[in-house]
Amino acid sequence: MRIKKGDIVVVIRGNYKDKKGKVMMVFPKEGRLIVEGVNMQRRHTRPKRRGEPSGILEKEGPIQHSNVMVVCPSCGEATRVGIMKLADGKRARYCKKCNELMER
Ligand SMILES: [Zn+2]
Repeated sequence: MRIKKGDIVVVIRGNYKDKKGKVMMVFPKEGRLIVEGVNMQRRHTRPKRRGEPSGILEKEGPIQHSNVMVVCPSCGEATRVGIMKLADGKRARYCKKCNELMER
């Protein structure tokens, strides 16, 4: 998967189409990720201890990585991510629109 924690992505299909958010977690094995503010799910919580908040908690649920595109930090466009090998042998991601490296 070419998306990493901390990336800004935009949702390209589904209920949250066109919503932008930060990647909070990635699950590479399942090809899923959690994006801030996307796919909110309600959970009813009961306080375990006195003084804890109870009621309805909203929490992000995982979405398929194919439903999002990475937003390039250089050109600000939703883009496809390429991988290139650097002179030191490391792999780096780059934006296929402006060709800038995306690593920070
Ligand atoms: Zn770019």
